Amino acid sequence: MGIYIEKFYSPQKIRDALDLISENDSKILAGSTSLGKAKNMKIKKMVNIMKLPLSYVKEDEKNIYIGATTTIQDLLENPIIQNKFPFIHSALLKFGAWGIRTMATVGGSVFTSFSWSDVTPLFMVLDAKVFIISKNEERLLPIDNFLDDKGEYINGYLLKEIIIEKDGCGVEREFKKIALSSFDIALLNFAYVKGNDFIRISVGARPGRPIRLKQAEKDRSLDTAIREAKLGDDFRVTKTWREKVLRSLLSEVIA
Ligand SMILES: Cc1cc2nc3c(=O)[nH]c(=O)nc-3n(C[C@H](O)[C@H](O)[C@H](O)COP(=O)(O)OP(=O)(O)OC[C@H]3O[C@@H](n4cnc5c(N)ncnc54)[C@H](O)[C@@H]3O)c2cc1C
Repeated sequence: MGIYIEKFYSPQKIRDALDLISENDSKILAGSTSLGKAKNMKIKKMVNIMKLPLSYVKEDEKNIYIGATTTIQDLLENPIIQNKFPFIHSALLKFGAWGIRTMATVGGSVFTSFSWSDVTPLFMVLDAKVFIISKNEERLLPIDNFLDDKGEYINGYLLKEIIIEKDGCGVEREFKKIALSSFDIALLNFAYVKGNDFIRISVGARPGRPIRLKQAEKDRSLDTAIREAKLGDDFRVTKTWREKVLRSLLSEVIA
């Protein structure tokens, strides 16, 4: 059995969506690229959020605001991203499986933050904030804090928007993805943003989810970075291979 859905809702107003997801046994559906593959799942109330007015990229003087249902392809084609944030654009061009780009959403990508996610390590080095809402409250959280405490937000909360400060791209930046082909998920991915007096480094394709290497950012030490990354083996490559590659990539950045 795949997914058995008792009732399917497609609200057009955020208020209605929040009412629905505040009820027990409800589940949010966005681009469906992850949820659609679920097996043996019974969902009483599936709440499709793709009709909500949350597909946008906006800007003001300080920030850019990316709505949760914006797809990766929407972001790639957005003129604000293309013209003003080429770093985001070029990083997202590495998101594999082109067909999936037209379905996978920014909110779904951050919410799942799978080990192989390209979106999460990118947003981590940009120091993105996650704006979540429920029927009774709103919270603006640094992406790391959101992911650390995600368990709290699984029921009743909607990830509404990602907020990135415009000057968050520093003076030097890079996103690297190593994969078997341009369609594949990462064997290792890593990103950094350097400012005059700071560096942010993230790494993905590790056990669990992508992380920021906060201690290594302070120590500027390769050994600390490798220890902190806690890379692992899987059926594709070994931990040793990942450590060697990460060390080599980082040596140009923090040595
Ligand atoms: C073949 C394939 C290749 C892929 N390649 C890559 C790749 O190279 N790089 C990469 O980064 N990703 C890749 N992905 C995408 C990634 O694995 C996830 O499937 C995707 O990011 C999930 O987004 P979605 O919008 O489809 O979420 P859905 O599948 O709709 O939902 C996933 C989960 O998130 C929750 N959710 C979704 N949106 C919200 C929200 N706004 N608020 C609260 N909860 C929410 C849902 O309830 C569900 O639990 C790939 C996926 C596939 C299938």
